[in-house]
Amino acid sequence: MKQSMLFSPTLREVPSDAEVRSHQLLLRAGFMRQNASGIYSFLPMGLRVLQKVEQIIREEMENAGAVELLMPALQPAELWQDSGRWYSYGPELMRMRDRHEREFALGATHEEVITSLVRDEVKSYKKLPLTLYQIQTKFRDEKRPRFGLLRGREFLMKDAYSFHDSQESLGDVYDKMYAAYSNVFRRCGLNFRAVIADSGAMGGKDTHEFMVLSDIGEDTIAYSDTSSYAANIEMAPVAATYEKSGEPLNGLEKTATPDQKSIEEVSGFLGLTAAQCIKSMVFRVDDKFVLVLVRGDHEVNDIKVKNLYGASVVELASAEEVQDLLGCAVGSLGPIGVADKVEVIADHAVEAVVNGCCGANEEGFHYVNVNPDRDFTVSQYTDLRFIQEGDASPDGQGTIRFARGIEVGHVFKLGTRYSEAMGATYLDENGRTQPMIMGCYGIGVSRTVAAVAEQFNDENGLKWPVAVAPFHVHLIPVNMKTDVQRETAETLYTSLRGQGFEVLLDDRQERPGVKFADSDLFGIPVRVTVGKKAEEGIVEVKVRETGEIAEIPVSELHTYIA
Ligand code: ATP
Ligand code: MG
Ligand code: MG
Ligand code: MG
Repeated sequence: MKQSMLFSPTLREVPSDAEVRSHQLLLRAGFMRQNASGIYSFLPMGLRVLQKVEQIIREEMENAGAVELLMPALQPAELWQDSGRWYSYGPELMRMRDRHEREFALGATHEEVITSLVRDEVKSYKKLPLTLYQIQTKFRDEKRPRFGLLRGREFLMKDAYSFHDSQESLGDVYDKMYAAYSNVFRRCGLNFRAVIADSGAMGGKDTHEFMVLSDIGEDTIAYSDTSSYAANIEMAPVAATYEKSGEPLNGLEKTATPDQKSIEEVSGFLGLTAAQCIKSMVFRVDDKFVLVLVRGDHEVNDIKVKNLYGASVVELASAEEVQDLLGCAVGSLGPIGVADKVEVIADHAVEAVVNGCCGANEEGFHYVNVNPDRDFTVSQYTDLRFIQEGDASPDGQGTIRFARGIEVGHVFKLGTRYSEAMGATYLDENGRTQPMIMGCYGIGVSRTVAAVAEQFNDENGLKWPVAVAPFHVHLIPVNMKTDVQRETAETLYTSLRGQGFEVLLDDRQERPGVKFADSDLFGIPVRVTVGKKAEEGIVEVKVRETGEIAEIPVSELHTYIA
């Protein structure tokens, strides 16, 4: 491609609202532009990177036996009502009405659409297993869209869904997907780690996240310093069951009287450290209250817990819906997992228990008439425990360390959660009706682009790994007005492309300083500069990654950069 035709407006200044390197550089290099909070246009250079990542994903999906399809982003509310998520998903789900006042959702994910699709077409075990995927725009009205592509409200996801007639079959595809995901992120050049997504279920094999290691990651990973054990502790729950022994919790008043209990006392009561008691949630399961404490950095908790509060306007939620909200695997929440119905008690009561049991999160306030020893007695702790830095690894090998991670992929054994709710059944070998067993597998495609940018840059700009680079070679004639330079560059442009290289030719009449600065921002892996020595048949090759420079005869260029 000729750069004079490219639309890639570069910026010399760092955009003021961009906090992290990837966001700043993708804007500065003209790879993307913001349209509204969390909503972006991919400009041609950014699109090329996005398409490279997509291509890698497509190849790995095909290897794993998944077949591509494309489902609609606009989805009728009825589907979401059938699964129950219309009521439990909360404000993150973008909802709208058509001209006939019919309700729709903009797809945040596609379990409902695919389950109804497969339900209507697949009736026999002979058609299973079936694994389908798409690469498509998703919509989530994130409370805090930020860091550019890393947390958008409109973003590109690869989502795959598998359908099975046995747990073994699901396990088989799950393992293939796990391997495919490892390949995708390795091929993108990322430094990542696959982690147990729900560390509450120790050693759980039902859900893993792929985390790119980065200080700006919003998740905290606990990993063993010697073994492969790694878990996301962002949402690690500790559940304790409380039996109500006092007056009902309704009608509590807020007073300005400082709470008598210090957070240390309270956390001591719960057998946890103060840091572990930052946030908590309370559910009533039958006649019991279940307190779920969430640990992590305060900011992250804030988002998640608020989401949950947002959903507490729903009076009755199924155990699974609550687990959906918490983002935990089925069964990992102990008491919640076994209850048929979980009543999410009103916000003020939740806060009351938070304050009463876990220390006030609003200074100077507490709720009267709530006293852990009087109103509640601890009847049972589940064996779910937080992991601390320095703890022995749960697999018995090594010591736990913490790191920050960006979630780029997530694989999940869904089981029959959707097929049962939506009636997706098949006839087994004996002619009996069975619910399909499902798995789902997501990759944040646009987030992956940003994660690569986050890991590969320097003070001058981006440094794309070859596999996802927008072009392989940036060809820069220093002075387009010098015939020999222009002609050498044009000859090389044709011949390199003939050899299969993707080449960007900077044919602009710009000053060399401008060309080089733009080139550093773009981060194309190899730069070929055609300058004065072109007369002697020599060009300069610079490797963006290492900064290594060499003068190479034109005749040897292909072999040198191959
Ligand atoms: P997060 O914990 O970051 O909110 P999630 O767990 O809600 O992500 P999933 O439902 O697991 O996300 O979706 C699959 C993948 O989609 C994620 O692993 C992530 O890579 C990507 N993704 C999710 N939300 C966003 C977003 N707002 N912007 C960009 N990518 C996203
Ligand atoms: Mg999310
Ligand atoms: Mg997540
Ligand atoms: Mg996830």
